[in-house]
Amino acid sequence: MRCPARGAACRRAQRRGIVGWTTDNLRLALYSLDVFHRLRAEIDLAYDLQTVGSLKIFSNPQAHEDAANACVQLRDLGLEYRCVDAAECVGIEPALADAASTLAGGIYYPGDESGDCRKFTEAIATRARSLGVSFMFGTTVTGLDVSGGALGWVETDRGRVTGESFVLATGAHSPLLGRRIGINLPIYPVKGVTVTVPIGRWNGAPRVTVVDDARKFAVVRLGDQVRTAGSAEFTGYDTTPDPARCQAILDNATRVFPELAACIDGATATRWAGLRPMTPDGPPVLGATPVRNLFVNSGGGHLGWTFSCGAARLVADLVSNRRPEIGLEGLTLERFTSTSPRVRGFG
Ligand SMILES: Cc1cc2nc3c(=O)[nH]c(=O)nc-3n(C[C@H](O)[C@H](O)[C@H](O)COP(=O)(O)OP(=O)(O)OC[C@H]3O[C@@H](n4cnc5c(N)ncnc54)[C@H](O)[C@@H]3O)c2cc1C
Repeated sequence: MRCPARGAACRRAQRRGIVGWTTDNLRLALYSLDVFHRLRAEIDLAYDLQTVGSLKIFSNPQAHEDAANACVQLRDLGLEYRCVDAAECVGIEPALADAASTLAGGIYYPGDESGDCRKFTEAIATRARSLGVSFMFGTTVTGLDVSGGALGWVETDRGRVTGESFVLATGAHSPLLGRRIGINLPIYPVKGVTVTVPIGRWNGAPRVTVVDDARKFAVVRLGDQVRTAGSAEFTGYDTTPDPARCQAILDNATRVFPELAACIDGATATRWAGLRPMTPDGPPVLGATPVRNLFVNSGGGHLGWTFSCGAARLVADLVSNRRPEIGLEGLTLERFTSTSPRVRGFG
């Protein structure tokens, strides 16, 4: 697999190194989790939420040890985790019983949550609409008008939209719009697939999200369904789920959860593909752009939903001239353009 982020953006990402981006990702993820909690305390959101954590499983002892060592470095920054053996993995998620003999161990993240992101988004939209927000679904932005260093309006296939401030948040498509006004966003589409099946008679279907690092899949419980997700393809902007990739994920997942096999039925399984908006170094791109009243909230990659509430809050604070609740170091567009000592200091 070849990284499409060639050239200057990739070299800058390499200079920052793994410590820089992991730290920034963790800072944003923990902040985002806090904003999720505050939001849920304020409004009722039904989205098949599970608050039983997630478990990363390993079949290779060395890989398990390496992952545990990496976690130690992040503990001081607030990462909550437990390094566990195979028996403890089964204790945390009994659906792993059949795979116990193949496990070297796992890392359990008790604070992790999961849910149905579509239901979450729809619930948020309903609430926002009740507060006066209007949405223009099915509308495509076709042009941006910049003059005097500011964005005057956005051209769409349903007419012109004006405003005081704008946020560019079109996922993997963000650089295509940015490019039109001279803003270079190093964000690349990385395709992933999911297969979602009803749990049917699988009474012991997992409740804890299980991620298999080596076989590159995740199994997530969503109400009375189980979703398997994985794969990373650089195939441009196409979002057709590749049947072979879907099957590979199912094959790997059924090796760990043999009972999943009985749930897979061509008539009821839903195959889906989406584009992760990835930056070369990992964290998203948030905040100011060279255009005065245009902000960006994009590039969350494989953690876009995890970051979502925190990223949205940070950008909303910047748009409203409020002081963001956490620092934006390592999260702005500046890291790809600046040669400041902080950027050069990583790696
Ligand atoms: C298989 C898979 C599994 C994933 N699992 C997880 C996970 O477990 N946890 C996690 O945190 N994240 C996960 N992600 C990542 C997460 O889904 C993304 O990071 C997130 O959806 C990005 O959100 P976004 O709003 O920036 O972009 P998107 O969700 O891509 O939304 C961008 C929107 O902009 C619209 N748009 C684009 N161009 C235009 C235009 N010109 N005019 C108007 N609208 C436009 C698009 O139609 C789209 O609706 C996963 C992704 C995939 C593919």
